[in-house]
Amino acid sequence: MDARQVERVLAHLCSKGLFGDVRQWCESRYDCVYVVTCPDCGCCFVLSEAEFQELVERSTALQVCGVPPDRLEVREPYPLPPFAR
Ligand SMILES: [Zn+2]
Repeated sequence: MDARQVERVLAHLCSKGLFGDVRQWCESRYDCVYVVTCPDCGCCFVLSEAEFQELVERSTALQVCGVPPDRLEVREPYPLPPFAR
């Protein structure tokens, strides 16, 4: 996990006091990434599942910027793989 990517997203969004727009992209089964798009300038950040989880936790603690945990519409298109249980 690259924690610096989480820092980058938070630094960008929090400098403007914004919440990013979150999409989950799955290229294939169990191969999913999260894309956080800045609503202000449209730039986007790609995060792994673990990085995204970290981002959600940090955002929940901050409450003013990052990603909105209460408005997340991330669907689980596939059942969780066995190793994730
Ligand atoms: Zn931006």
